[in-house]
Amino acid sequence: MVFQALRGTSDIFQAEATAWAELEQTLRAWAACYGYSEIRTPIIEPAGLFLRSIGEMTDIVQKEMFRFEDRGGNDIVLRPEGTAAVVRAFLEHHLYNQQALTRLFYLGPMFRAERPQAGRFRQFHQYGVEAIGSASPWVDVEVIALCVDSLRACGVRDLAVWVSSMGTREDQQRSAAYLRERLLPIRAQLPDYLQQRFDTNIFRVLDCKDEAVQQLVWQRIDRPFLLSEGSQAHFDTVRRGLEELGIPFDDSQAFARGLDYYTQTVFEVRATGLGAQDAVAAGGRYDNLVAEMGGPALGAVGFAAGIERIRLAIQAQQPSGAVGGREGCCLIVLHESVRAEARALLYQLRRAGHKALMDYELRSMKAQLRDANQHGFRYALLLGQQEMAQQAVAVKDLENAQQQLIRRDALLDWLSSHDS
Ligand code: ATP
Ligand code: MG
Repeated sequence: MVFQALRGTSDIFQAEATAWAELEQTLRAWAACYGYSEIRTPIIEPAGLFLRSIGEMTDIVQKEMFRFEDRGGNDIVLRPEGTAAVVRAFLEHHLYNQQALTRLFYLGPMFRAERPQAGRFRQFHQYGVEAIGSASPWVDVEVIALCVDSLRACGVRDLAVWVSSMGTREDQQRSAAYLRERLLPIRAQLPDYLQQRFDTNIFRVLDCKDEAVQQLVWQRIDRPFLLSEGSQAHFDTVRRGLEELGIPFDDSQAFARGLDYYTQTVFEVRATGLGAQDAVAAGGRYDNLVAEMGGPALGAVGFAAGIERIRLAIQAQQPSGAVGGREGCCLIVLHESVRAEARALLYQLRRAGHKALMDYELRSMKAQLRDANQHGFRYALLLGQQEMAQQAVAVKDLENAQQQLIRRDALLDWLSSHDS
């Protein structure tokens, strides 16, 4: 019996795992700069949490949730997204009593039973932030700036920020009525799944990427969202704020986001080189969710970025063959008699914080050097009878093949100033 990872899931290891760890470190550092602290919520949550918050008619709830009953008969899901869980935790621990605006970020796996394809997986990972406790448009600006800054810091270069406004709940009701009236004459021309969306959540008809459908729709409307004066002012402030920070954005396309809880500002960050799945991050304001989940009436805004898509974007934008720098030392043992000394040196190097390995098998020098090269070590430390007699180590720089003899008692200091 040979087992394989489930479709839409993946193993992350070696160089890719290192890249992930660095990415996570960068994202944590940027979140910290902006004053966002980490929250880790469980992977499993009561199903009701997502049915209530995301909305019964959304794709996630209709067909993408991994949902099961445990032995006690509880209805449980593997979390499909982070916001609802963060809001649950925020309320459960009364975080609103601690400060006016609570800034949180998370990093972790999410699960959706989607059809696996490029950039779309069943277990994927998100970095997300939530700012809960303010209706101010300046918080929208802060959250978008953090999103763009952290993606750029990760090395995503060609990105475009798209912003739109869905207005308040009242605006959305008026807009939905307007859209239904305008689009009713073309309803029968829409594919079945869009006719369904027409009836359940008309904004999602706008989501459709099909050119023909887009043309049909946009011939009949000019603006899908009818914004009240307050909503318009909110959106204007967000745009002004982004301009002040020098963050380029595109507001030429009004769009909706697929989850029920969004109000006012919504945004998406797309990157080139990702093909059809080009959204790296997406988010927006959700001013009703906290109250709808039984908490005080507090405005909130956030986003989630897909780690896999960040990796894909970086890889697509990087000239191929570019790899990380070499680091660490590989001990090359040249004679039986120096093995004990080599083991002592290995332990000393590791305790001093250097990445270090040695071969315990006493293979040929050629084989050991080949391994050292393949594993990306910066230095090969050659240790034979001759070096031993001189109380020194021959240090070969694998970047340029230069070799020099360094006294054993000066080695650590030398490495500290050379091995980054
Ligand atoms: P999409 O339009 O790509 O389906 P979405 O609207 O479902 O995205 P959100 O739920 O807002 O996306 O999630 C935010 C981000 O999480 C996306 O922009 C994307 O980077 C990432 N993401 C969402 N679903 C997946 C998935 N199945 N596999 C990998 N990444 C995903
Ligand atoms: Mg989706």
